[in-house]
Amino acid sequence: MTTTLITGANKGLGFETARRLIQAGHTVYAGARDTRRGEEAAARLGARFVRIDITDEDSVRAAAEFVRKEAGSLDVLVNNAGISGVRKPVGEVTGEDMRSTYETNVFGAVRVTRAFLPLLESGKAPVVVNVASGLGSIAATNDPSRVEFTVAALDYNSSKTALVMVTSQYAKAYPGIRFNAVDPGYTATDLNAHSGPRSVEEGADIIVRMALVDADGPTGGFFDEAGPAAW
Ligand code: NAP
Repeated sequence: MTTTLITGANKGLGFETARRLIQAGHTVYAGARDTRRGEEAAARLGARFVRIDITDEDSVRAAAEFVRKEAGSLDVLVNNAGISGVRKPVGEVTGEDMRSTYETNVFGAVRVTRAFLPLLESGKAPVVVNVASGLGSIAATNDPSRVEFTVAALDYNSSKTALVMVTSQYAKAYPGIRFNAVDPGYTATDLNAHSGPRSVEEGADIIVRMALVDADGPTGGFFDEAGPAAW
C-alpha cells in the first residue's frame, strides 16, 4: 500500500492529481482547509479527507498526527496548495503582501514538509513533489519566447523561485527522500480564472509522474512536461 497526502486536493490540479494517484492504487489523504469542500471532494475521489490549512501550524501538526495514527507512515507528499498572490503592479507590492503570499506558497510547504518528515522517513521509497511554476523560473521569465516573460508578479513568481530552492535544500539534506519541484504549465483552474490553455489533466501529468518516481529516480530537480526545466 502506498500512502499519499496531497494538500489543496479539493479542486484544480490537486484534485486531478488525487484522482490519478488513486487510479494508480495509492491510498490518498486529500488535504483541504475547508471541511465541507474537503469532505465533498474526498467522497467524489474515494479518498480519505484530512483537514489541513498550511498557513496554520496547529492545523498542520494535527493533520500529521491524524495520518500517523491512521496510516503510521507516509510514502508520497504532494505540496500542491498555493495561492495566486496579490496581483498588483510590481512597484505597489508591499512587504506585507509578500509575507501573505509566502505564508502559503513557501512557508506553508515548509511547515507541511517539516511536520511530515518523520512519517516520510518511515515510508517506503519516500517522495515529495513541490508544485512550483514556470513563473518561478528565472530563465523562463527572462526568455521573450516564453509566456512566463509576460507575467509580472513580484510575490507569486518569487515565491515559486523560493520553493524550487527549498526543494533543492531538502533534497541535499535528505538523500533517502526524492524531493522534486514541478511546473504544471499554464493550466485552466480557479487560480487564474480558468485563463490557462492547458487542461487539469495535462497540468497534473508532471505532478503525477514525479509522485511515482522510485528510489532510483531523480531528486533535487525541477521538471516540466518536457523533462528537466531551467531554473
Ligand atoms: P486552485 O484550483 O486555486 O487550487 C488551489 C488549492 O490550494 C485549493 O484547493 C485551495 O483551497 C488550496 N489552498 C490555498 N491556500 C491553502 C491553505 N492555506 N491551506 C490549504 N489549502 C490551501 O489552483 P491550481 O491551479 O490547482 O493550483 C495548484 C498549485 O499549482 C498551486 O501551488 C499553484 O501555484 C500551482 N500552479 C498552477 C498553475 C496554473 O496555471 N493553474 C501553474 C503553475 C503552478 P480552497 O479551495 O480552500 O481555496
